Amino acid sequence: MSVSLAFCVLLAAVDGAAPVDAYDTSVSVPIVLDGSTERATPTAAAAPIAATPTAATAPTATTPTAPIAIAGVTTHEPVVALTFDACATKKQANGFDRKVFEILAREQTPATFYLSGRWVEKHPSAARAIAAAPWIELGNHTYSHPRLTLTRKERIHLQIRRTSKIIEKKIGRPALTLRPPAGAFNAAVVEIANQEHLPVVLWSIVSGDVGGHVPVERMDRTVLEQAKPGSIIIFHINKRAPFTKKALPDIIAGLREKGFRFVTVSQLLALPDAVPIKAKPSHYGYGRRHKRPLPEQKDQDRANPPT
Ligand SMILES: [Zn+2]
Repeated sequence: MSVSLAFCVLLAAVDGAAPVDAYDTSVSVPIVLDGSTERATPTAAAAPIAATPTAATAPTATTPTAPIAIAGVTTHEPVVALTFDACATKKQANGFDRKVFEILAREQTPATFYLSGRWVEKHPSAARAIAAAPWIELGNHTYSHPRLTLTRKERIHLQIRRTSKIIEKKIGRPALTLRPPAGAFNAAVVEIANQEHLPVVLWSIVSGDVGGHVPVERMDRTVLEQAKPGSIIIFHINKRAPFTKKALPDIIAGLREKGFRFVTVSQLLALPDAVPIKAKPSHYGYGRRHKRPLPEQKDQDRANPPT
């Protein structure tokens, strides 16, 4: 299925930092995460994936594939997915970077927003703006942004379900994938998300926008140098990343100059030749604990700010 066709399917159907080290490029697995679940979930993300396995990647009936968390895909299509997290915690509702939203609208750039349920509740005007922008795909970023590796299973289910309901009700489109807060996940989290019919999606390129520690020029350079077909790039749109709006125009222009087109995450996963890159589980993910990194952690942490 072509990207444009996948996009049509998507429209017809409805709606830190990403650790380079958090995914294992040595592991590639078939794109069908779980055939039965995918087919049982009539989302734009799932249907084309299950419908178009390639001979090289299709799993056999006798070798079921365990669900994985996806850091990106390999593909021959020159496409990348820009993603923007809107995180809100119990204590911090954060904000809405309307300027970033306006840049994406002006540039007519498809994008995927990972929304915390509480963020949607606290920002009704932002929810209305997103509702009126069908080129934005939605993802579930849990309700109050807990590290899911430290959360009881029942509560993980509740965090996911509550958020999906809020997103549907307030924005009118479904969340198609799940991004675990701070990038903290393990096999149990992936399994629970799978039970909730949401593929787990991390990232392969960290813009480093959180906190404004990375200058605009370095953010541009990082993204443009690392971008490759199938990359998933993480930014934030909750007013925790002051330079994103400054860096984004050049990043979009630079990626276009390199021949890239922009797709949503579900479109990326639905590419006929896409093979997912497995994200490496991380118990704690990124955040406060990394403020004083060990020397050998510095490079890794610089590339992986908290989400
Ligand atoms: Zn987040």
